[in-house]
Amino acid sequence: MDIFFDSHTHSIASGHHTSDTLFSLAKSASLKGLTHLCVTDHAPKMIGAAKESYFRNLRYGQKKIFGVNVIYGVELNVLDESGKVDLPPDILNGLDFAIASLHREIFKPSTEEYNTSALINAMDNPFVSVIGHPDDPTYEINLFSLTDAAKEKKVILEVNSMGVSENGYRKHNIGWLKEMLNECKRKEIYIVLGSDSHGSENIANFSDSIKLLNSIEFPEKLILNGDPQKFLFLAAERRKDKNIIRF
Ligand SMILES: [Zn+2]
Ligand SMILES: [Zn+2]
Repeated sequence: MDIFFDSHTHSIASGHHTSDTLFSLAKSASLKGLTHLCVTDHAPKMIGAAKESYFRNLRYGQKKIFGVNVIYGVELNVLDESGKVDLPPDILNGLDFAIASLHREIFKPSTEEYNTSALINAMDNPFVSVIGHPDDPTYEINLFSLTDAAKEKKVILEVNSMGVSENGYRKHNIGWLKEMLNECKRKEIYIVLGSDSHGSENIANFSDSIKLLNSIEFPEKLILNGDPQKFLFLAAERRKDKNIIRF
């Protein structure tokens, strides 16, 4: 399987677990043979994360570092059932894409219906093109409703290494994840592998996720990590569907 990019990484700007800057991340991505790297620091509501002004300025960020094309994103916090997130549209429009995730520090686990609605409503945000770690067992999620919505709204679902790798920091929920992936296979929903590396250490650390995908014969054509252009195209299409002009 070709792996040309990692869709989910954090730098010092996320405020925890690393002092690595964007430059160290790009250097590591380059050494690992990636052509592209998504930097997706935590949005402002996460404790210790960068403020709005940081994300506002990413549109002026260096496009190529150590030969690696940098894709500037953010990991947004879904705040409530309405799918509201913690950066406004004018800032999100300056980024290449956004991941929306549920985080226990911000979103108290509720009923399956409430949690699932939060993620599905976040998919209506034209700047959100990826749902991060939907398998987090902190939250009960209806995988059938989630995958139906991802298909309809053309949103990518993430396979996050931290919920799959043996030394990942999130509790595992492999049974649920496998079921979700089988639905993605059946409904032809794109997925992306994200390491969720805080710092450069775990960038493109996908071996356990790939093993899992192979075990269920997941079709390679639905895995976006071999095609960064397609990944960016899918993000751009979501804006276009809502007639948003990127500045
Ligand atoms: Zn997260
Ligand atoms: Zn993350």
